[in-house]
Amino acid sequence: QAKEQGRNGYQIYDESMSAKALERIILESRLHKAIKEGEFILHYQPQVSNATGEVVGLEALVRWNSRELGMVEPSRFLPLAEEIGLIIQIDQIVIAEACRQHKLWMDAGMPPVVMAVNISGQQFMKNELLDAVTAVLKETGLPPEFLELELTEGVLMAHTERTVKTLQALKGMGVRLAIDDFGTGFSSLSYLKRFPLDVLKIDRAFIKDITTEADDAAITLATIEMAHTLKLLVIAEGVETRAQLEFLTDHGCDMYQGYLFCKPVPPEEIARMFLLPPSSDPA
Ligand code: C2E
Ligand code: MG
Ligand code: MG
Ligand code: MG
Repeated sequence: QAKEQGRNGYQIYDESMSAKALERIILESRLHKAIKEGEFILHYQPQVSNATGEVVGLEALVRWNSRELGMVEPSRFLPLAEEIGLIIQIDQIVIAEACRQHKLWMDAGMPPVVMAVNISGQQFMKNELLDAVTAVLKETGLPPEFLELELTEGVLMAHTERTVKTLQALKGMGVRLAIDDFGTGFSSLSYLKRFPLDVLKIDRAFIKDITTEADDAAITLATIEMAHTLKLLVIAEGVETRAQLEFLTDHGCDMYQGYLFCKPVPPEEIARMFLLPPSSDPA
């Protein structure tokens, strides 16, 4: 240990080190405070059917609305939150808020779409995920079939036996299960059939150059085909152009998400899209 600390053992006085360490300590204490003071909010991104062009789902994406830092994107605080274990509390806040909000929307006449929530590896490994989801559904009254949990390949591959049990229990309740960022991890589709999944989301990395890179196109098409063989619905992530959408639709992709249709937006925006009548009546 003394070795790692460097020769003098007073690393904290190294200027660049202390600046970084300080920044981290500040961010960490602000994160703790953010949880206490309820500074996390959700934005929602529509998931659209390729066949009908209709919205069939919403993905809840967390944002940290910090008094000191402004609106902070997940990439700036989730890695630290994972490292220090705060991600579990954040995910808990997100599931509860997404279900509460969705129940309100449905009661207000929103078409029956699915609410998708991201689950971190740590959250998943905790035995309580099942209990947490059960409790939130009970508290909010959201029917389980309107909740979808997005898991990453890493989560699925980690602890197979218990993972399968947990997924089966969630599935048994009627909750939908999706694999997120597919293609960025190391899973194979044959392995995937062990998990009771409903949806596969192809990572944006493959979609980005789908119309210009033959490799990306080939990987995406093979993924769609094999996913369908396993009876999974396929969502393409990060669709930004009409050309990408046409390519995907032509090749049987079921749904898409991306800036082409809509960026993640605050709840008021979703309410405006689905709940308010058009402002001018053409009749
Ligand atoms: P993800 O679940 O794969 O979410 C998709 C990300 O792509 C979102 O970034 C979204 O804003 C972005 N995106 C959507 N359409 C487009 C597009 O057309 N072009 C581009 N360039 N980007 C697009 P965001 O919101 O920054 O979230 C990043 C990641 O952080 C998420 O990736 C997810 O892994 C994680 N995350 C977000 N919210 C939560 C949460 O509540 N809990 C957990 N555990 N993770 C979360
Ligand atoms: Mg996701
Ligand atoms: Mg993703
Ligand atoms: Mg991602």
